[in-house]
Amino acid sequence: MLGGAEEIGANCCYLDLDGTGILIDAGLHPRDRSSRAFPDIDVLGDRPTDVLVVTHAHTDHIGAVPYVMRRLPHLRPIMTHATRDLSHIVLHNGARLLRGDISASFPKQWLEFYGREEIEALRYAFEAVPYDDPLRLRGYSGRSAIDLGLHWSGHILGSSSVSLNVKGFSVLHTADIMLSDQFVVPKARIPRHHVDVLITEATNAATKQLPTYAEETKRLAAFVNGIVARNGSVLIPCFALGKLQEMVVHLYSMMRRGSIPHLPIYTGGIGVRINKVYDQYCYSDPMKRPGFEVSDIPQERLRRDELLHGDFMRNPSIVLAPSGMMNFGTMSNTLARQWFTRPEFGIAFIGYQDPESPGHSLLASEKKKPFDFGSTRSSRVCEVERFRFSSHASGEHLVELAEDIRPSTVVITHGDAGACESLALEIHERLPGTRIIIPQHGKPYTLLQSE
Ligand SMILES: [Zn+2]
Ligand SMILES: [Zn+2]
Repeated sequence: MLGGAEEIGANCCYLDLDGTGILIDAGLHPRDRSSRAFPDIDVLGDRPTDVLVVTHAHTDHIGAVPYVMRRLPHLRPIMTHATRDLSHIVLHNGARLLRGDISASFPKQWLEFYGREEIEALRYAFEAVPYDDPLRLRGYSGRSAIDLGLHWSGHILGSSSVSLNVKGFSVLHTADIMLSDQFVVPKARIPRHHVDVLITEATNAATKQLPTYAEETKRLAAFVNGIVARNGSVLIPCFALGKLQEMVVHLYSMMRRGSIPHLPIYTGGIGVRINKVYDQYCYSDPMKRPGFEVSDIPQERLRRDELLHGDFMRNPSIVLAPSGMMNFGTMSNTLARQWFTRPEFGIAFIGYQDPESPGHSLLASEKKKPFDFGSTRSSRVCEVERFRFSSHASGEHLVELAEDIRPSTVVITHGDAGACESLALEIHERLPGTRIIIPQHGKPYTLLQSE
């Protein structure tokens, strides 16, 4: 692991498959701007590097591609069509955030990789492949051909799990995976075939059983109705890619069913452009309701220059604003400070919070008691509540996947130490003969000895 070992960080996994070097993902750390912001390419030394697979367009998986492609310009970057179409929106946005967020430890020369032209040029270098259509890689550093397949992982538009087969030896990397339906996208479709090594994510593995979407929907409706009864507005901080589309569709269907009143829904930032990419793929990619377009749902535009005095400050509304963890300089961070002073307003968290993010400390805060909101000391009188509409599989589902596949080795990544350990324990109990690895940063592991 060059990043993302025992954390959700600059995710990057390196595999040497019989001499061919494959990198899976090149993520930007969600928060860290030290040397751990990017995958640790230097660990590789003179090992072979041939192909870069990008599993999906979330920043913690794609955000360091400009850096990695500059360091290793000969890499062949491969992804799905939708991920390629989302890539430049996400990378330009990431570049904007990086430029506004330079800590003393962040080397300034790194920003050069994130210029407008650099990102546009990358887009044309990206090679898109369809789901479940194996691509034969040959003629690289290794002796043998490799069959690479991307499979629908149920996480967000364009997301994929990766299968790699070399000389009858098979690896499946789940990447970010969801094993039950969401509101817009259906659950993963992992092909049934022999797998020797399963590399799995573990985001939610510490929670064995997540509450169901139906249970959380009931709680969310009660929360929204409570706030609206007091003439307040609800702020939902969420990732612009995936979470925002899921919640727009879900809130609108709650309104249509009458479980919450018809309210203006505000969306903004890159979310609006991402909605359009979802709509472009509404027939060709896996969708719960093929042909349904997110942009058809009425949405008010959230404008950066109107954040302090938008109509939502006067009339009950629902505001969906990035970022999901309320990082400094983002819309949700600016809006939250407005919300803090209004006892009738409410903030509903719906996604993962990095332990050191402003969102995490707000969630742990109590009314009228001071807390650190990023670098500033704040206090709040508004309501704050957490809901679990995760787009990552529960621990139980991940264990079932391992039981189903029965690999000889399981490698656990993309989760904090506690999540990785509890998944390891659970799999060990159910599949006692299986070798389980929780890889450490930069440490090599032999997955199969050649005779
Ligand atoms: Zn993701
Ligand atoms: Zn991720």
